[in-house]
Amino acid sequence: MSVPADEPGNPAHAIFERFLRAGECREVLGCFGELCQQLGLQGSGLQLYHGLKAALNYWSAKALWSKLDKKAGHKDYDQGTACASTKCLVVGAGPCGLRVAIELALLGARVVLLEKRDSFSRNNVLHLWPFTIHDLRALGAKKFYGRFCTGTLDHISIRQLQLILLKVALLLGVEVHINVQFKGLVPPAGKVGGQGGWRAVLQPSSSPLSHYEFDVLISAGGGKFVPEGFKRKETRGKLAIGITTNFINRHSRAEVEVAEISGVARIYNQKFFQNLYNKTGIDLENIVYYKDDTHYFVMTAKKQSLLKKGVILQDKADIESLLSPENVNRDALLSYAKEAANFSTNYRLPVLEFALNHRDLPDVDMFDFTCMTRSENAALVREHNGARLLLGLVGDCLVEPFWPLGTGVARGFLAAFDAAWMVRRWAAGTPPLEVLAERESIYQHLSQTSPDNTNKNISQYSINPATRYPNINLQAIKASQVRDLYLVGMVE
Ligand code: FAD
Repeated sequence: MSVPADEPGNPAHAIFERFLRAGECREVLGCFGELCQQLGLQGSGLQLYHGLKAALNYWSAKALWSKLDKKAGHKDYDQGTACASTKCLVVGAGPCGLRVAIELALLGARVVLLEKRDSFSRNNVLHLWPFTIHDLRALGAKKFYGRFCTGTLDHISIRQLQLILLKVALLLGVEVHINVQFKGLVPPAGKVGGQGGWRAVLQPSSSPLSHYEFDVLISAGGGKFVPEGFKRKETRGKLAIGITTNFINRHSRAEVEVAEISGVARIYNQKFFQNLYNKTGIDLENIVYYKDDTHYFVMTAKKQSLLKKGVILQDKADIESLLSPENVNRDALLSYAKEAANFSTNYRLPVLEFALNHRDLPDVDMFDFTCMTRSENAALVREHNGARLLLGLVGDCLVEPFWPLGTGVARGFLAAFDAAWMVRRWAAGTPPLEVLAERESIYQHLSQTSPDNTNKNISQYSINPATRYPNINLQAIKASQVRDLYLVGMVE
């Protein structure tokens, strides 16, 4: 006879506790599979969530269910029926893909999420706006990551954020598949009005998901990946070379006492940067230091000082060649980053030992922020043989963020909510051009959003844009202006 799941000593409790604590992507998925097997649960969607809730009825699990139930009870989700007959494919298990997948699951949609990699390896740390902290708390973040929101914390490492969101997504019935890459779309076969829906070309092509038919595709594939049909705009600013670096945090008393730098920009603190230059020859525009799982620094460095310090070997006109691996002395880059970190923390971090990246190398990188890209539009519709597909972008593939400003994940979450709202309107049968016009009206504001000009009442935030953006005009763009976003016919 099987042991009821609420009895002490029930093996499912131990698996669930392991799932909550799991610190690697594959481990999370492994524990979750084991848990479902142990409980004899199959399927996906909110039905799976209700099954887990009924089976894991002990105090620790109950605390999490009560958070998620509160969230799921919001009127926007219509008790998980708002998108009950919608089938979604989400590309990318970065923070934004996972966050939008959670919203779609709460709306009652079937959600399949693809990730081409099988690990979460980014130590780099993201700045959280107050609403994102509130949002993550409401999803039970502290249950998965005890250090979340302790002290003055307003940041989180990318990998920890992914782990939290992955666990929530799985509990809400999102079907997550790793080592699967989205390569393109397959239009429905057959005659107009016939059977069949949109499918995806996948790598590996043998993936059973190649047969999955969906009516919504949300792309959250990061800065480099945008599905065909979307046009990108480039904004070229003045030369901006970013350096990120992570050092091991041993959480010693001496480390705890060192103050973080939430953003020192040259214009606000000329003396600091002048002293840094005089003492070390390092010339920066800005620097940020966050104490998280690692000691994380992000800075924008001036080209001349990188040349003088031997980090960049030769001056070149085009930025790609300038920062190409052949033109960078990696040891000099490591010294540069370490010296800047040491100076800006008053040499108070006792041992600066580099944390390792996913290639087991010191976690130091140099990036070009001179040219930032954004998508011209946030969504479009494709129609083929009478079958419609709604496509939306969220996260870095919608708007690439400038990391030192730390706007990426907050704007990414706002766009994830906006995309979920769009899917809700789509599922409600709103005419496609109206859905697109409304989405573009909202998208116009994204790049200007800040904690100061979004609604202060963050506890009321939902996928409904009116709860987040004051005085938003959802009809600023008219249906007649977005006709070119409705594409009929074959995929090129
Ligand atoms: P991402 O986090 O980039 O996630 C995209 C996901 O999609 C990835 O997991 C990728 O493997 C997957 N993917 C891509 N294409 C496909 C495909 N075709 N099929 C299946 N899966 C696919 N921001 C900061 O503010 N500070 C930083 O220091 C910082 N460091 C970063 C370092 C790196 C190496 C990268 C890539 C990004 C960094 N960012 C940083 C940006 C930050 O990670 C994002 O703003 C934030 O994570 C939200 O991004 P996202 O979810 O849109 O995309």
